[in-house]
Amino acid sequence: MQSLLSRAFALSLVVLTSTAVVRAEPVVKVTLLGTASPTPRPDRFGPSTLIEAGGQKLLFDAGRGVPIRLRQINVPMGKIDALFITHYHSDHVSGIPDLWLTGWLSPPYGRRTTPFRVIGPVGAKNLMDNLQKAYALDIKIRLEDEKLPPQGIAVETQEFDQDGVVYEKDGVKVIAFTVDHGDAIKPAVGYRVEYRAHVVTISGDTRYSDDVVKHGTGADVLIHEVGAARPELLSQVFAQRIMAHHTSPKDVGRVFAQAKPKLAVYTHIVLLSSEKIPEPTLADIEAETRQTYDGPLQFGEDLMSFEIGDTVTVKRFGR
Ligand SMILES: [Zn+2]
Ligand SMILES: [Zn+2]
Repeated sequence: MQSLLSRAFALSLVVLTSTAVVRAEPVVKVTLLGTASPTPRPDRFGPSTLIEAGGQKLLFDAGRGVPIRLRQINVPMGKIDALFITHYHSDHVSGIPDLWLTGWLSPPYGRRTTPFRVIGPVGAKNLMDNLQKAYALDIKIRLEDEKLPPQGIAVETQEFDQDGVVYEKDGVKVIAFTVDHGDAIKPAVGYRVEYRAHVVTISGDTRYSDDVVKHGTGADVLIHEVGAARPELLSQVFAQRIMAHHTSPKDVGRVFAQAKPKLAVYTHIVLLSSEKIPEPTLADIEAETRQTYDGPLQFGEDLMSFEIGDTVTVKRFGR
């Protein structure tokens, strides 16, 4: 185990060292705002990833705590150009009302003056229409009382029902592709973001999927979900049911090995446990991943960022 860990550390050091010489501005910057699953944890907030490219700020999913993480990196909520949704499990969308409503307020952390733009598979319109109904009174009160700009709370929803390009602006292209989150959980998509010959791929929630391999091939950074439990827990039905919706570390390793990204990143880390059986450790997950993949691998942490240029630099928050 020790050798596996030090190997991963050595790999990330190689990435850091090589970029230190270049010192170029990153072409694309990726920041993990939340790396958990539905489990409430103080160290990992709900799933959300910020991608900055071509002067745009694109958000992928808005789980629990997104406004707090954006504030920590001084990105005003009002400056988000578009929110992309992978699927409608609540852990991926529960931060939307907070982002939408708080991002409209007049302090510097908000100040949205143009419509809140949401792009997602079928279901986005229903969600956003009903959020507008649910918060109608707050909106009415703030329009009258605080004189906030009506355009800043307007919602512009774009829904799609097939794979392909769902966003294109100033050279930044976002491609949605269907993933396999289980037969009952549809629609569910991942996203591939392209800008100036650089690629970032986000798996969304999925079981092993050849489509992630396809869209993750050639990526600078391939961000993948993972689910794991100790072997003794896997005999229990509830754990089997959850694991049937996610990708085991060994199977994510197969995805990484085929797609060969410059850097493979774990996010949405599902750690199953019960009253008697503890969660697996990240070292357990790493050891299982290494059965099928021996390339560069980084466990995502909240506010960890990846600066993509000629190389990929990993930065931890505050360091
Ligand atoms: Zn999820
Ligand atoms: Zn899900």
